[in-house]
Amino acid sequence: MNGLQGGKMLWQTRGCYSLGVQHGAYFSTSQNRNANKSFKLVVVGGGSGGCASAAKFASKLGAGQVAVIEPRDMHYYQAMWTLVGGGQKKLEQSGKPMQSVLPSKAEWIKDKVVGFDPDNSKVMTQNGDEISYEFLVVAMGLQLNFDVIKGLPEAFETPGVSSNYDLRYVNKTWESIQQFKEGNCVFSFPNTPVKCAGAPQKIMYLTEKILRMENRRDHANIIYHTSLPVIFGVKKYADALWKIVEERNIEVNLRSNLVEVRPDTREAIFQNLDKPEEAPKAVKYSMLHVTPPMSAPDVLRNSSKIVDENGFLNVNKETLQHMNYPNIFGIGDCTNVPTSKTAAAVAGMIGILRRNLTASMNGQPLKAKYDGYTSCPLVTGPNECILAEFDFQSPPQPLETFPINQAKPRWTMYNMKAHVMPHVYWQMLNGWWEGPKIFRKLAHLGMSR
Ligand SMILES: Cc1cc2nc3c(=O)[nH]c(=O)nc-3n(C[C@H](O)[C@H](O)[C@H](O)COP(=O)(O)OP(=O)(O)OC[C@H]3O[C@@H](n4cnc5c(N)ncnc54)[C@H](O)[C@@H]3O)c2cc1C
Repeated sequence: MNGLQGGKMLWQTRGCYSLGVQHGAYFSTSQNRNANKSFKLVVVGGGSGGCASAAKFASKLGAGQVAVIEPRDMHYYQAMWTLVGGGQKKLEQSGKPMQSVLPSKAEWIKDKVVGFDPDNSKVMTQNGDEISYEFLVVAMGLQLNFDVIKGLPEAFETPGVSSNYDLRYVNKTWESIQQFKEGNCVFSFPNTPVKCAGAPQKIMYLTEKILRMENRRDHANIIYHTSLPVIFGVKKYADALWKIVEERNIEVNLRSNLVEVRPDTREAIFQNLDKPEEAPKAVKYSMLHVTPPMSAPDVLRNSSKIVDENGFLNVNKETLQHMNYPNIFGIGDCTNVPTSKTAAAVAGMIGILRRNLTASMNGQPLKAKYDGYTSCPLVTGPNECILAEFDFQSPPQPLETFPINQAKPRWTMYNMKAHVMPHVYWQMLNGWWEGPKIFRKLAHLGMSR
């Protein structure tokens, strides 16, 4: 069945269509309304990068010129899920209706992209529509591949197994911490790129500190298994984290990859990546927090003309323009920009995208260059945080905003993460935040990059 037939079937099943205008944002689920529509700019994805990109250009280009294709009703500030899993915030605080975060002058096509036709500047959607564009921004984020780990989907149905990475399982992390009595608390990091590479261990530090504060720490072994050969990719912060795990008696296993979960025997099975010939090791758990393997969404990774060999959108890491199709730009997690995948990186990219896409629309050379800025607030307890900020050099170098040692866990940084950053995030979606570069320059008296 081709996409158009699929769309017709959907249409017949529904027997009607909905077309609405709320808060000035259009939304539509009809096949007829969107079929063969064309826009100056189409944005695929209404997450962090998609919303911010649409906001920048909808006001500049005017009504009817920008469309955002996004299937979900709700937009979540995912960075808050670490604190939701750790019991410091409620899940409801992290979400807003999609229509309220998309720009009023953009048309919201509530649909899913199922194919790219870059040679004809078109995308195909699940409802069977073909949407044409002059320019395209791809901002599809990452796909969570839970089913790659044998037994994991079933294990999520049992007590003590959770993941802050998924809306369905994030509250279960806090339940698991509360219900924990004794045994192993196990935390995993997969053998793929992930969003927010600090998040798999932030929840571990929160768990450890909460058990300590509640006099339950003596009953727990806190165990971290990571596929990486390091605890963190930036030496300055890795050194600080090694000190913390030693002081707090946390066991760290490097190059150890979760391959299976056996809920019946409550065992997590880890493969030593440096010794694949060895039998995988079973680790008993009372609580298991899983960070799933991730990839670009299937529809993107299967679009061979626009992705690299790893399935990520193939863009110039400085200009964010596609390597082969100059009218395509990328932002955020789905691109192959070699920086740590975070909303902070999106903030660092959005000003570059604004300038370079505008230049491209005006037939001018692309002058803005992304420096790889990204940030990871490494929450180490319910009131302390290391604010890691760095770039994409090889190896990555710190690119810190404040003229203090940011590798030290601080109460001020925790408050910034918990109470200031959410506001900054929602402003970024409105197009009003392009990262802290200007503050960094001011704080370092113009001496910083
Ligand atoms: C637990 C956790 C903790 C985190 N902590 C931090 C942190 O402390 N700091 C930080 O900066 N970042 C953090 N992040 C990472 C941050 O949330 C992401 O890096 C950021 O959201 C990436 O933005 P994006 O636009 O690339 O992707 P997303 O925001 O994920 O948006 C992608 C959008 O594309 C849509 N989409 C997917 N497929 C299709 C399709 N076929 N058609 C149309 N639309 C589609 C999706 O529905 C989604 O809305 C964290 C994330 C998690 C899960």
